[in-house]
Amino acid sequence: MTQLELAQKGTISSAMKAVARKETIEPESVRHGVAEGLIVIPVNINHRGVEPCGIGKGLRTKVNANFGTSPDFADIDTELAKLRAAVDAQTDTVMDLSTGGDISAIRRAIIAATSLPIGTVPIYQAGIEAIDRWGSIVAMPVEHLFAAIQEQAEDGVDFMTVHCGITQKAVDRLRKAKRTTDVVSRGGAFTIGWMLHNDKENPLYEHFDRLLEIARKYDVTLSLGDGLRPGSLADASDRAQIEELLTIGELVERSRTAGVQVMVEGPGHMPLDQIAANVQLEKLVCKGAPFYVLGPLVTDIAAGYDHITAAIGGAIAAAAGADFLCYVTPSEHLSLPDPDDVREGVIGARIAAHAGDIIKGVKGALNWDREMSQARKSLDWEKQIKLSIDPPRARKAHEQRGTTSAGCSMCGKYCAMELVAKYLGTSTVRC
Ligand code: SF4
Repeated sequence: MTQLELAQKGTISSAMKAVARKETIEPESVRHGVAEGLIVIPVNINHRGVEPCGIGKGLRTKVNANFGTSPDFADIDTELAKLRAAVDAQTDTVMDLSTGGDISAIRRAIIAATSLPIGTVPIYQAGIEAIDRWGSIVAMPVEHLFAAIQEQAEDGVDFMTVHCGITQKAVDRLRKAKRTTDVVSRGGAFTIGWMLHNDKENPLYEHFDRLLEIARKYDVTLSLGDGLRPGSLADASDRAQIEELLTIGELVERSRTAGVQVMVEGPGHMPLDQIAANVQLEKLVCKGAPFYVLGPLVTDIAAGYDHITAAIGGAIAAAAGADFLCYVTPSEHLSLPDPDDVREGVIGARIAAHAGDIIKGVKGALNWDREMSQARKSLDWEKQIKLSIDPPRARKAHEQRGTTSAGCSMCGKYCAMELVAKYLGTSTVRC
């Protein structure tokens, strides 16, 4: 039985108990959220030792790190180094988006190297193999796509991005939309190319029940992908994006009816003032399904700093109710990230998630900030470093150029904390 089926039967599974322990909430709250489809716990029955991670209403906002080979850089060791960087930076989940080298071997190596939940986009493997075997992605037989999904489910993949909401009707809307950047989702592009070339409906939409059967058998959480997510501010919230979301809303209901856990992916590039409305729309149309956003990136012009544009958008999205933030690295739009980019991306997304959690009222979130402020007031550097989101970076900055006879080197003997504590008679204890 899937976690959803267990929860609906009234059973509190070990995965639900583990999520409740981590979140310090009652196991029954987790069970209820899973039963209602408001929480997902991606735990494939074949993924031995996976650490259950709850995503959804009432829980801490989670962060995902993507990595994976490309046709130009297909080295397993580099991808494993990125995995280590993501884990060190405390990502909650990882996605293997490999498109180069031996894709199956890389995925299995990643699954073996971490206990975090793993996500994939199976059409990448199916499409790349179709090029090798039949010369083109558009020549991919439907059977081959489902074989890739089956193989990845058997391997223990916990959640899969599947672009089931791109229908011929949505493609028609895309044509009429005359977008600035037509399609920026790789899976979306593969799917649309296949549909247009073959003049057929999206196989993942047409054969959605078959997908549900596989997902139910292994308890793979479906992550209904936004193949038409806006890739520029100019295209945000257009009719093509919303058309896909409407279909996804219907597929959420079909998934739940089939006992399959499901979440929904969202934009993308988006002006600040549209983000909260997009979160609310997803929650309404998709009946509260957990929302997994890529960014959103709040400006198109920050190449080299898109981990920052994504963190700005991610904080607003999380505060508005988004449940899961896909990180963006400084290399976004420019190159395949390296391990340092992965680290920066995870930390940026974690800051955004935490900022959102303060507004959501997630248990313990604001207390972390209060403790940090108390440590600052006490000039307790060790505690500040321990409580910082990135202790190694905080330690490096303080030890390299921070220590002085008073306060830190920012204000030195004019340390505001010390000065005012002296006159107010409050305590500032230097450590
Ligand atoms: S010196 Fe300035 S920046 Fe440093 S702890 Fe004191 S008030 Fe804060």
